[in-house]
Amino acid sequence: MTIAVYPGSFDPVTNGHIDVACRAREIFDEVIISVARNGSKQALFSVDERVQLLEAAVAAMPGIRVDTFDGLTVDYARTVDATALVRGLRAVSDFEYEFQIALMNRKLAPELETVFLMPNEKYTYLSSSIVRELARLHTDVSEFVPDVVMHALRTRFDAPSDK
Ligand code: ADP
Repeated sequence: MTIAVYPGSFDPVTNGHIDVACRAREIFDEVIISVARNGSKQALFSVDERVQLLEAAVAAMPGIRVDTFDGLTVDYARTVDATALVRGLRAVSDFEYEFQIALMNRKLAPELETVFLMPNEKYTYLSSSIVRELARLHTDVSEFVPDVVMHALRTRFDAPSDK
């Protein structure tokens, strides 16, 4: 049984994330999409909300489950017996940051391999931050995110308190 952890912020999950998780699932028996609790970024959705959105998005995908973690990704990966970390690479601009983290993680946990997967090219320009910005400006994001996320974004930005 091979297990891979796909760590990230997922604020919120996009179709690009789902594409990467599905590709990872072709390689590993189980893929755990795990939301970092200690992300330093200012988040739109709470960790629990992000988990709920992810769970709804992958509900029909066997072998993909959702979790959260605190602290070092490599420590968490060990606790779930993962042999690999999965990260998505969209463009060269992702590379430097991802390369640095992957090499640090290798230093911390040599037994854990980082696997980079490229999404379908139609998702290469997609990021959670762009989706948040579009939704904030009341732009249709239905082709970029799972339906459940689209509804959550609409609720968030159309709420009376937001007007
Ligand atoms: P982080 O804050 O760790 O970068 P994100 O949720 O933004 O968390 O992204 C998690 C991982 O998914 C990263 O490896 C990122 O490069 C990748 N990713 C994000 N958006 C996409 C996308 N549209 N296509 C492929 N990979 C993506």
